[in-house]
Amino acid sequence: MVQSKTWVLARHFEGFPEDSNFELKLEQQPEPKDGEVLLEALFLSVDPYMRPFSRLRMKEGGVMIGTQVAKVIQSNNSAFPIGCHVVGRCGWRTHTVSDGTGLTRLLSDWPQEVPMSLALGAIGMPGLTALYGLEEVLGLQAGDTLLVNAAAGAVGSTVGQIAKIKGCRLVGSTGSDAKVAFLKELGFDEAFNYITVSSLEEALKSASPDGYHCFFENVGGPFCSVAIPQMKEFGRIALCGGISTYNETIPQTGPYPHLTMIFKQLKMEGFLVGRWEHKNQEALRRLMAWKREGKLQCREHVTQGFENMPAAFMGMLQGENIGKAIVRVSIEAI
Ligand code: NDP
Repeated sequence: MVQSKTWVLARHFEGFPEDSNFELKLEQQPEPKDGEVLLEALFLSVDPYMRPFSRLRMKEGGVMIGTQVAKVIQSNNSAFPIGCHVVGRCGWRTHTVSDGTGLTRLLSDWPQEVPMSLALGAIGMPGLTALYGLEEVLGLQAGDTLLVNAAAGAVGSTVGQIAKIKGCRLVGSTGSDAKVAFLKELGFDEAFNYITVSSLEEALKSASPDGYHCFFENVGGPFCSVAIPQMKEFGRIALCGGISTYNETIPQTGPYPHLTMIFKQLKMEGFLVGRWEHKNQEALRRLMAWKREGKLQCREHVTQGFENMPAAFMGMLQGENIGKAIVRVSIEAI
């Protein structure tokens, strides 16, 4: 029998997460039965959704929700033979016995030179979010001017690069000068640090004096209130996330966008990446092709060690990451 390390939600988050919200536990994994596999985590993802979803989907004492890239180390299920790699919704665990529910095998022809951790990032859920948000929600067209915030993160940096591939003009907002430099490296036409600009409104106006056709919204709150009036008439807004609001104890109020949206005849649509799950295989292949052609840079912010999951999660919420925040599990340390 294998002992798994797990991180549980000791008590629900109130405001910004703290160490005391988490507890590291040891869990005995049973022998896999017929149809089951034993998985060993290689990389775990820390994502913003874990913060709001914890309230909706988790009970105190439950294992933290999350996705990982894992290796099958015992198998009684022919769909997942020993040695194959999967992306699994196993939560914050080093080892998991699974009947296959929520497991997806990595693309069968995953190239050796491409790190498997990207299956949690640009060639995984965040990459799909970027692609579907641009294509299915915004209907991005060559020549459009696109605004994206949290632009140096997992979703934002992929949004920017896909929009560039599609021939758009790109403006990115992010939270440090190093991140601004990264956006310039990726080919953003304009990028600014929303924390240090003297006026967000002026920064948005000067980056695109004629306004924006499209806005890929990851942040919410005051950023959104300032950005909406900068849209062109008939502008389109993809409501992907609202990270500036996830740790609030008292919800923000107004200003409300109704009049601006009516007079500019704007369209705003919220979405969840899972809506287009039936397209994932084809979409992942396109993302992989762009990666192999050198059109998609997939930067990662790697934290070493399962013990550091909470620190990695809190660091990501504080903006420590450039690119996708992941945790590499050191097998030796387990
Ligand atoms: P990121 O890699 O972008 O990491 C989070 C980033 O958010 C931080 O690096 C930080 O960047 C930024 N941030 C944190 N706090 C604030 C704040 N108060 N104001 C502005 N920015 C802040 O995460 P992801 O790429 O995984 O996710 C980006 C967004 O997309 C999130 O809102 C997430 O919830 C959403 N999402 C939605 C999905 C969907 O299906 N709708 C699926 C996946 C993600 P900075 O330094 O630039 O501030």
